[in-house]
Amino acid sequence: MSMDLEYEWMRYGCLKKGGQLSYALKITCTRWWKTEKVAYTIVDGSGQLPPQHGYIELEAGQSRIIDYDHAPGEWDWCDGDYIIIYDNKGREYDRQVFRMKTYGPGECPECHGSHHCATCHGTGRITDKMHMVSTCPRCLGTGVCQTCYVPTRNGGMTANMGYAGSTVATNTNPNVELSRQQKIIALRKRIADLESMISQCEFDERMRKMRTANFGYDTSRTTDDMRQAQLKYTYQSQLIQLRHELEQLEMRGF
Ligand SMILES: [Zn+2]
Ligand SMILES: [Zn+2]
Repeated sequence: MSMDLEYEWMRYGCLKKGGQLSYALKITCTRWWKTEKVAYTIVDGSGQLPPQHGYIELEAGQSRIIDYDHAPGEWDWCDGDYIIIYDNKGREYDRQVFRMKTYGPGECPECHGSHHCATCHGTGRITDKMHMVSTCPRCLGTGVCQTCYVPTRNGGMTANMGYAGSTVATNTNPNVELSRQQKIIALRKRIADLESMISQCEFDERMRKMRTANFGYDTSRTTDDMRQAQLKYTYQSQLIQLRHELEQLEMRGF
């Protein structure tokens, strides 16, 4: 059976990130007589984050937002991420890929290719007539051009942290220090999440072994074990990567 859904990618100021520019997916039910029940999975296009599963119910004409503020796992949409929509039998029904408009070298109408925010010239700070220095309202202190910026997940933490570090220099800048602190908090949370997922895997493993010992050969064992081992391996490699990132970030504070 067909589903009547409309998708729209939007830019918005993320509440949990203090208004920082982020991306959101708006799903609208275009059916006018019935509720759509939508189960979905969000997948990291670069394969670094575990997929997140969610479920929403949309009444006729109703819209819901899937973004950092509302999605499971505080999803920060990056270029190449996608969402899989399932039908009521749990089969893949639709897939929407988040692709951003990319500008060629020098084509961006705002920065003409420098990637520097035109308002603050890439410093992240503005100085008013009274010589008061404050955070740039356009780029929110990142110094990054907001017109051509494409969030990616190249081993870095949060996409929108941008490359402020390279233009704004050192930790004496409060914006950079704040962003570093936020990254550390986010990393610690993700590390804790991963650790609990790994111990869940280990618990399942033990339970299955006990079941097999008590009831003889379990037919589901082989595929389950393989899937579980694969999952655990993925979590463990992510954990190593994240711990390394955290170490690097914490070192920069001294
Ligand atoms: Zn630009
Ligand atoms: Zn700016």
